[in-house]
Amino acid sequence: MTSLDIIEESENRIVVKLKGIPLQYANALRRICLSGIPTFAVDDVVIIENSSVLADEGVAHRLAMLPLRTDLTRFVEPSACDCHSDVGCSKCRVLLMLDSGSSDTTRTVTSQDLSSEDEVVKPVNPNVPIVALAPGQKLKVEAYARLGRGSEHAKWNSSTIAILTEGGNPEEHILAVETVGSLTAGEVVRSAIDELERRLGEFQQTIAALS
Ligand SMILES: [Zn+2]
Repeated sequence: MTSLDIIEESENRIVVKLKGIPLQYANALRRICLSGIPTFAVDDVVIIENSSVLADEGVAHRLAMLPLRTDLTRFVEPSACDCHSDVGCSKCRVLLMLDSGSSDTTRTVTSQDLSSEDEVVKPVNPNVPIVALAPGQKLKVEAYARLGRGSEHAKWNSSTIAILTEGGNPEEHILAVETVGSLTAGEVVRSAIDELERRLGEFQQTIAALS
């Protein structure tokens, strides 16, 4: 009999016992937990003003690597969105604005300075430094975030760790997952199960079409 029991669960970490699930499926689930579930990350940055010492590309890279809290119920991946637009729409992208203004003291712009047009999709950690500004320097950008998967680029990874170990009995495996915070650990595992089912369904259809 197949079952999945939660042994331990917190916001960022979950440990589940998988029973009656062949090793290859358990391992597929582990891989999907790491990089197969959509999360939000900044993918396009418009630099309006940047007089900091960090080059525009450096600013864009730092913004892209910020984990963003993700809501999978209201958003879709651009490839699945009915807007069919490169620019995107309110269902497939979120705009985050950053405007440092200018100051006469040295200071550090952090992830907290990003203001999101969405109440959920915003940096998981408000204290990530983006760039230090000297007196008079400014940074003003528009950052567009979209859903993507870690299999495309590591900035979309949903977990930092997903480890599979043997359980005490035959066909019993323990899966431990730690998230980057864009989704809770429980959301990651639940989404991964849905994704594995979808992929297996697609695979069966492909096989059926061949025979
Ligand atoms: Zn769209």
